[in-house]
Amino acid sequence: MSLPVTNSHPLMRILILALMLLTCAGLTDARAGASELDSGDGGILISPAGTPRRIMVNLGDRGPQAYPERFRTAPYKEADFAAAMEFLLSREEILGLQDSARELALQAYTTDELGRRQLRFAQRYKGLPVWPAEILVHVDPAGRVDLMEGAYIPTPQGLRTAPLVKADAAESKARDVLDGLAGESALALLEGKPELIVYIGGGSQPRLAWKVILNRSVASRWLILVDAMTRQALLAYDTVMEDNHSGSGQDLLGETVPLNVWEDEGLYYLLDTSKPMFRGIEEYMESGAIPVHDLAGQDPLLGFNPRLVESASPDSGWLPDGVSAAYNLSETYDYYFERHGRDSIDDQGMSVRAYVRVGGSILSNACWNPGLESFFFGAGQRTVAGLDVVAHEFTHGVVDCASSLLYYGESGALHEAWADIFGCAVEARTMGATDWVGGTVFSERFQRSLADPASREIVPGRPYPSHVDEMVTPDDPLLGEDYAADNGAVHWNCTVVSHAFYLLAEGQDDAIGIEDTEEIFFRAVTRHMPSASRFLDARLACLASAEEIFGSNSAQVRATEAAFDAVGIVEPQPSPPSDSSDDAMVCLLLATEQGQDAVWSLGRLDPARDDDPQGERISRTPAALAPPAVSNDGSLAAFVSADHDACTVDMDSLEENCLGLEGEVASVALSPDGSLMAYVPLTEAGELADHFVLHDVATGEEVPVLFVDEAGNSVFLAVNSVDFAADGHTLAFDVLAPIEEEDGTRTVAWVVIVANLDSMQAYALVAQDTPLASPAMGNQSLEHISLEVLTGLDGPEALSLVSAGDLSLLNFAPVAQTAPLAVPSINGDDSAVLYSAPDSGAQAPAIWRVPMDMANLRTLGDPEMILANALYAEAYASGSTAGDAQSETDDANLRLPAAPMRFDMRTVEVRSIGLGDQ
Ligand SMILES: [Zn+2]
Repeated sequence: MSLPVTNSHPLMRILILALMLLTCAGLTDARAGASELDSGDGGILISPAGTPRRIMVNLGDRGPQAYPERFRTAPYKEADFAAAMEFLLSREEILGLQDSARELALQAYTTDELGRRQLRFAQRYKGLPVWPAEILVHVDPAGRVDLMEGAYIPTPQGLRTAPLVKADAAESKARDVLDGLAGESALALLEGKPELIVYIGGGSQPRLAWKVILNRSVASRWLILVDAMTRQALLAYDTVMEDNHSGSGQDLLGETVPLNVWEDEGLYYLLDTSKPMFRGIEEYMESGAIPVHDLAGQDPLLGFNPRLVESASPDSGWLPDGVSAAYNLSETYDYYFERHGRDSIDDQGMSVRAYVRVGGSILSNACWNPGLESFFFGAGQRTVAGLDVVAHEFTHGVVDCASSLLYYGESGALHEAWADIFGCAVEARTMGATDWVGGTVFSERFQRSLADPASREIVPGRPYPSHVDEMVTPDDPLLGEDYAADNGAVHWNCTVVSHAFYLLAEGQDDAIGIEDTEEIFFRAVTRHMPSASRFLDARLACLASAEEIFGSNSAQVRATEAAFDAVGIVEPQPSPPSDSSDDAMVCLLLATEQGQDAVWSLGRLDPARDDDPQGERISRTPAALAPPAVSNDGSLAAFVSADHDACTVDMDSLEENCLGLEGEVASVALSPDGSLMAYVPLTEAGELADHFVLHDVATGEEVPVLFVDEAGNSVFLAVNSVDFAADGHTLAFDVLAPIEEEDGTRTVAWVVIVANLDSMQAYALVAQDTPLASPAMGNQSLEHISLEVLTGLDGPEALSLVSAGDLSLLNFAPVAQTAPLAVPSINGDDSAVLYSAPDSGAQAPAIWRVPMDMANLRTLGDPEMILANALYAEAYASGSTAGDAQSETDDANLRLPAAPMRFDMRTVEVRSIGLGDQ
């Protein structure tokens, strides 16, 4: 049995070759077989991406008592790196990585006071950063790897790395997005150059994207991702950690506080050089000082001349804003140095640069700008007067340097939670206690409470959440519209996590006190959390930290678990495999493989029929590599046999019936009621025919369907595959066709035709310069369709954008990006798209499922592999059996005419589809 490579159309040849490569590579790896999981590994938690978010190695207690004498030898970076790489290389299968040595780049190596070491790796793919994706490997004092944490993806499959969209086009798209958000054309400065990355967020498969950073002010630094294939905006958010405390308008506090000032030629300056980090006055902006500048209302983005706040006397005459900034930043620096041994924001003695009385139209708040690595405090505001507010901003800087938490969604809410938490912790050190309120100097409207989040309201009627169940979501009735504007509710959902801190410190029965709690949370964010951490990762990081500081069996560990349990951040119970969907489907199943030859048969996965969870083989006749078909009630299936006949299988009796057309059939389809089959014939030369045939299953009557020019000649060069829509009278199929563009030029292109057999009306879907293939209609709505948008077919990086579309709007959205021949389909209730792609771990061919909101063309989750060693799923309504679903549409059944059905090509309208929001 060999794959029919030589006797098909050129496109099929290319597609089949691509699939062969994929299949053969897959089989080799699949034979390599069982998981390389080390017997010492335990506590593995898998992330939604299918990669481990944590692997704990069972080496006994991870706490300090395991190392009573702490290793005295200096950590040896090379040895630790070798140990980490050995750990990773020996687990590539469970990690979902193909070549760890190339795909992971060490970006930080840290050592700590416990004698432990941390190696932070960034993920890369073909030399491009995979973003945001990190793996942390932990080495114990004896040099052994005992923990791995990750937020990353499996090695991308077939992802094209040559962008279709150029950098300048991406930049202009980013500017359009920003203008759209601002409602006006705004001045924005491009920071650096657009960077090509592999983006892994957004609940879909990885995408090639341009990362563009645009600065509109010091308080507005936008990160915008533009799809490098479709020019769709994938993500846009403001990276400046700005905190909205505006609106009070009162004077500063008027208290006298101690200052460390610099004297030069009789004048005094707010330049604190008293800290251990200070390295010399010459370059005070870079040498471990705390300079406080007065901008006196200037907008710093437009160019400015920073002037240190000055006075003729060391004890009087100071600008109150400057005094507040200098004192509060000094106290915060001291807190981090004394309590955690951290030397400034970056732990490398970075100068703490502050600007007060910042002008410009935008800044009325306090912010940390990670690009400028500076603090800005607005003019005429009290922000800088609050120690907890200043410590909050300082902590944003610390978190940014330590773990680069993404400032969006849950990781952004963690950024805010940590800032609030350490705002209170700094307050507790300086004042002797904290009131557990962030923003105490402001009115209640601008406060957040850690002790009782619900005591404050985000907007009237919507209290802050204390539990995961109360979190703000995009469909929140009061806040949904502002969800994106708050970077995915970062300032709102943060109270869930900061409340856990309060509970652990003093709010629960077994509370451990604020200082132990500070240690745990500080260690978690500086040593453990990947940049794309979610709330669960924060729990895991705090638990790992508590174990390392206090021991695995300590009261602190148990109390930490209790605190996170109380706010609903819990470890998910492992779920049984493939319960993600009740979709029943037919597909091709790998039967055997001999050498390079794979043998496929018709397969079925139907929960209502108690099929084998690995798929049930339901044909004895081997199948060709062509998508099978099934009636909507699941009573009849059809497939192309390996000798290219069209065959049906009764799904209850499993009786097979082939038409006796050996060597003549390329692909098949079934109408929803199973009464009609459509098949594409093969020519005598083994090429795809220029038409398809309708075949009455009951009578065997047949009628060809042709598209003809005015002379009556068939116009298509090849038809590939056909699918019936839910009404049984509409069909979609992909053809190589001559197409006249709007400007009158003629080309030949792979397009999708949608044709109605009653009205004899048809139209062609085209995408500019891009072949379309493998259309499959929805089962509920006539507007729903899925297809493949193909790129790079002539090069080594052929790519398929699996897309879902709405035929009334001609809008299409990418669902997944993979190798060609993904052959998507829509499931029984139009709530998911199924497609074929390699299993990320084993490389075997597999069927994937993406839940979809078809009405809005949005994916509702990440692709999930639902069946391995399988291809080309075609779903039907589960639980149906033959007979009890006797079609009510019998009367409406199409009656086949005696003569060939001829569509007049001159009436076929060409419709250009929109890909993404291009
Ligand atoms: Zn903040």
